[in-house]
Amino acid sequence: MLCPHCGRGLVTLDFCDIEVDYCYSCGGIWLDNGEIERLVSGQGDEFLNMEGVNVDEKTRRCPLCGRRMEKVLMGMGDSVVLDRCGAHGIWTDAGELRKILSAACHEGRQSRLIRLLDEMFAARKDSRGCV
Ligand SMILES: [Zn+2]
Ligand SMILES: [Zn+2]
Repeated sequence: MLCPHCGRGLVTLDFCDIEVDYCYSCGGIWLDNGEIERLVSGQGDEFLNMEGVNVDEKTRRCPLCGRRMEKVLMGMGDSVVLDRCGAHGIWTDAGELRKILSAACHEGRQSRLIRLLDEMFAARKDSRGCV
């Protein structure tokens, strides 16, 4: 699978039992459908309301099917614009997943996930399991 942002190959990493595809080059992360829901589960639906938005950002193509992805806004205070392929999943640019986790997870889970995220990407190698 190739990065929709810079075209390099994505690396599959295990993030708390969820497979994410990470681009070492630009720091973007691909999440398959349902994975973001698993990460922020229990936080209420408002976090997962994704609305289509018109923003002045380059559209990207889904790394799986090659169709243009739509820009969606995650329903949180500090808005994050993501690229979504309705059939396959969402693309988060560098730092966006971290923002989502900071906004959408309750404290205990949030700090654990963010620590994992930071460690995983700082180490730039496969990191296994939840602590
Ligand atoms: Zn990239
Ligand atoms: Zn797709």
